Amino acid sequence: MDLNKYKNHLFKNIKNKLTEWIFLKEETTISTEEVYRFLHSIKGTSGTLQLHDLMQISEKLLNHLNPESKATWGEIELKKFLFPLIEVTYKHENFDEIVIPDEPVIYTSAPIIQIIDDDVSLLMLLKDVLEAKNCMVMTYTNPEIAVKKYFEMKPDCLILDIELPKKDGFHILQEIQEHNEKRFIPTIMISIKNTKQVRIDAYKKGADDFFPKPIDMEELVAKVERHLQRKKIFDESVLIDELTQVYNRKYLADSLPRFYQDFRRTKQAFSISILDIDFFKKINDSYGHLMGDRILKDFAQYLKQNIRGLDMVYRYGGEEFVIIFPKTTSEEAKKRLSELIQGFSQIEYTHKEETFSVTFSAGVFTVQNDSITWEEAFKEADNSLYEAKRLGRARVECLQKTSQSYQKNIVNISVIDDDFIIRTLLAQILDSLNMKHLQLNIKIFEDGPSFLQSDHAKEEVNHFVILDGVMPIMDGLEVLEKIKKGKNAHLYKVLMLTGRKSKHEIEQALKLGVDDYVTKPFYVRELHSRMETILNKLK
Ligand code: GH3
Ligand code: MG
Ligand code: MG
Repeated sequence: MDLNKYKNHLFKNIKNKLTEWIFLKEETTISTEEVYRFLHSIKGTSGTLQLHDLMQISEKLLNHLNPESKATWGEIELKKFLFPLIEVTYKHENFDEIVIPDEPVIYTSAPIIQIIDDDVSLLMLLKDVLEAKNCMVMTYTNPEIAVKKYFEMKPDCLILDIELPKKDGFHILQEIQEHNEKRFIPTIMISIKNTKQVRIDAYKKGADDFFPKPIDMEELVAKVERHLQRKKIFDESVLIDELTQVYNRKYLADSLPRFYQDFRRTKQAFSISILDIDFFKKINDSYGHLMGDRILKDFAQYLKQNIRGLDMVYRYGGEEFVIIFPKTTSEEAKKRLSELIQGFSQIEYTHKEETFSVTFSAGVFTVQNDSITWEEAFKEADNSLYEAKRLGRARVECLQKTSQSYQKNIVNISVIDDDFIIRTLLAQILDSLNMKHLQLNIKIFEDGPSFLQSDHAKEEVNHFVILDGVMPIMDGLEVLEKIKKGKNAHLYKVLMLTGRKSKHEIEQALKLGVDDYVTKPFYVRELHSRMETILNKLK
């Protein structure tokens, strides 16, 4: 396995932190705990990445620190103390660095693995390794957000670091356990503290497994795969309807957030349909309950065999079923359902010389923006089902207004930055923005030309661009100039990231009509609110 990408990332991370600390504002100090945590996390990751030099250096430095100490560090002392780290980072950057392009990650409706660790390099590595195994990986450094997401997404496996800022892994485990009755989510704790006591604590607090850092990837992957297999067997035993052998209503509730998650990422609408057998009571009354049961079984199997691989069937209750069609517009869903209605009505049943056939009706609702909750979406689908019954049954209806009137204001957001860390950070901030009135299409570019030539840039919608001032291939100012002189200039808002000391650059940017600028290094919270302000103006 090629570790270079992660090595580069780790070094860039170290460099960023060092830069932040070494250009401290006067009178600002760093606590020993912070320095300790930084070195500690480098030690863990460098081991995993087989960077032995770096591991030794961080270990040696750690030995000089007392994590309990209340002493603080100023710029000069820190620079002196961390010099070996600066040296090895410089060496890596100038002599060892190998440039590897980022490959886009393709998500599937695969098992979800949630990882909580404050070490971004390790998160990236785990994410890539597990995604290569067809898992969908959600990574978190912030315990609070992670816990919220855990309950929303109900992952199939949780990988949890013990040493975390603010709230440690044991705390998170406890919080999860308290609200987790009857749920079975394999939990693997990872830690650099591989002692018997830590392992016992982990198991006692509800972990299913413990894995020491530095992580042996091959072994971890094998473990995770085994946990996922067992989880699947477990799920199938409690989430499948006994009579019809399709997923039950409980599983429907569990899987809906995943369809929403996929939708947020792909921006492709998905359709929810509710199906209800026509005059089923009469069937029971005329031919008996056993015949009724048989028809329910047949119906479920018929649906399963005639949908696409991605579509999912659930028994909602009684003679009502739900099909979710991912990446499907309401027109397509209606067409598929009509075919299903047609096909199922052809099946002939016999009861004591009498032959009869069975029909069903369906209502559709298509989710095309995530401000609609799934409860609301279901209500809408149910209204349409009612309409289908009212109009004579054996048909499908969708009362939803045309997509136009549901369409939010679209904003194409582009991040253009050659720095991997900054791109990742910005994408994360953008993802966390919640703009109810806007549909945000976020795209990340490494340089000006690839942005300017993209279809994304040419679309006639509102645009918001976050632009790095200094870039190798085409300078940020040049990109800004091209945008502001282009034919869609009026649709564009541009936020520029500039160096703190680049007065000239800021002047130029303002002259060219930049809408806002932020100096680097920036505070995430500040940038977050700047972005919100600009986007709010696009209402
Ligand atoms: P409509 O066309 O308006 O849907 O008429 P309907 O008779 O299908 O409507 P209703 O929802 O009133 O009836 C559903 C019936 O399904 C009532 C219930 O006895 C029957 N049913 C629910 N679950 C089962 C089951 O597991 N087996 C059998 N045999 N019948 C069931
Ligand atoms: Mg019914
Ligand atoms: Mg019915």
